[in-house]
Amino acid sequence: MDGVERLDGGPRSAVVVGAGVVGLSTAWFLQERGVEVTVVDRTGVAAGASWGNAGWIAPGLAIPLNEPAVLRYGLRSLLNPAAPLHIPLTADPGLWSFLTRFAAHCRWSSWTRVAKANLPLNEESIEAYDVLTANGVAVPTVDAPFTAAFTSARQAQGLVRELERLAAAGQPVDHSVLSTSDLREQLPQASAALTAGVRIDGQRFVDPGAFVRALGRAVVARGATIRSGEVTGVRPGVSVQTSDGTAISADAVVLATGAWLPALAARAGVRTQVRAGRGYSFTVPVSEPVRGPIYLPEVRVACTPYRDGLRVAGTMEFRDPDAPLDKARVDAIIASTRPLLDGVRWEDRTDVWVGPRPVTPDGRAVIGATRVPGVYVAGGHGMWGLAQGPVTGRLLAEQITTGKQPAALREFDPLR
Ligand SMILES: Cc1cc2nc3c(=O)[nH]c(=O)nc-3n(C[C@H](O)[C@H](O)[C@H](O)COP(=O)(O)OP(=O)(O)OC[C@H]3O[C@@H](n4cnc5c(N)ncnc54)[C@H](O)[C@@H]3O)c2cc1C
Repeated sequence: MDGVERLDGGPRSAVVVGAGVVGLSTAWFLQERGVEVTVVDRTGVAAGASWGNAGWIAPGLAIPLNEPAVLRYGLRSLLNPAAPLHIPLTADPGLWSFLTRFAAHCRWSSWTRVAKANLPLNEESIEAYDVLTANGVAVPTVDAPFTAAFTSARQAQGLVRELERLAAAGQPVDHSVLSTSDLREQLPQASAALTAGVRIDGQRFVDPGAFVRALGRAVVARGATIRSGEVTGVRPGVSVQTSDGTAISADAVVLATGAWLPALAARAGVRTQVRAGRGYSFTVPVSEPVRGPIYLPEVRVACTPYRDGLRVAGTMEFRDPDAPLDKARVDAIIASTRPLLDGVRWEDRTDVWVGPRPVTPDGRAVIGATRVPGVYVAGGHGMWGLAQGPVTGRLLAEQITTGKQPAALREFDPLR
């Protein structure tokens, strides 16, 4: 923390780069600790992955991605353009180096390490949301049972085994197996193809775009300025430069630029790669209201009650975060999900969206100090950044203002 001007042991001002759930949560919790905050985003609030995601605040389903089966699945997917995992056969050496490292972490030992590292984030993720909603972020989170539905009891057992592994790593998840008739009662939209289920309790969901915008308004109401501009550099000292030549100085800088993190973080000595695992979503009208989130693991799709319809989200596409939306991915989601759900008007979909999950090769987020004094990063939460955003902001604000790394952040050290 050399070089950081401190008052009562902490910096007085901070610039947060990135107005997604992670950056704005960090801004809010820094304000809680008396720090004056400026937020800069190249596009605006919730312009990245934080808008069109599935809205699950579901620590109980935050199952690490890097299980060994993902490797076999990934290899099969290479040959199938409609598969939920899409890896373009391009000559991008950065992507192949990332995938090689990712593959090296698809082992149970790495999986368990991620599950254990995530425990403190998962344990407090819902509570951190409650702190925000009780203090001016006026979009409620909704408590409802989540239903995972499958075409066979054998497939359902696969999820039960994963939940048991999570419990063995220290995170018990409240769940129960559903028979075919239980499933129909719980999920009237289940088609005849779905015959088994697992009910998961104790989770929440939210309208993510509305929540993050409300968080942005709350941060402004507490005195922050949100500026637009693309940050192109960070100088020790500490200031950020934007593409229009403006420099903004502060005692601390937080880089929370999601899948775009490497552009700025690499220059601050962060070597952990972050790549965009792009996901798609859209909203469809339904003939009967859906009671709670629906998880369809066999086709890797997550559905969430959204306004009067259903938000359908899926696909993991390793491509440039700024590449245009590929309609074929949306068609692939519909083709795989249509046979599983009844009463959905697929043709009347709206809000078709693509956004980049910030994925790291070892499955752990990067949260904490960089090599440059006063410069911090927060990102790389992959599939679970919405759920883990507020708790991340709270822990990082503690580190920035006290100069001590909370034990919960050790495994996420950006300089690992
Ligand atoms: C389809 C889909 C479904 C998902 N479902 C869930 C879910 O149900 N639950 C869950 O927990 N997570 C989910 N996720 C993951 C979650 O959305 C992300 O992990 C999370 O939103 C990441 O937040 P962030 O703030 O790190 O990044 P982002 O929200 O991407 O924000 C980064 C911001 O940085 C800005 N920026 C980038 N570069 C610069 C720059 N140089 N200068 C200034 N600004 C810059 C961008 O404009 C952007 O606003 C899902 C993701 C997808 C794609």
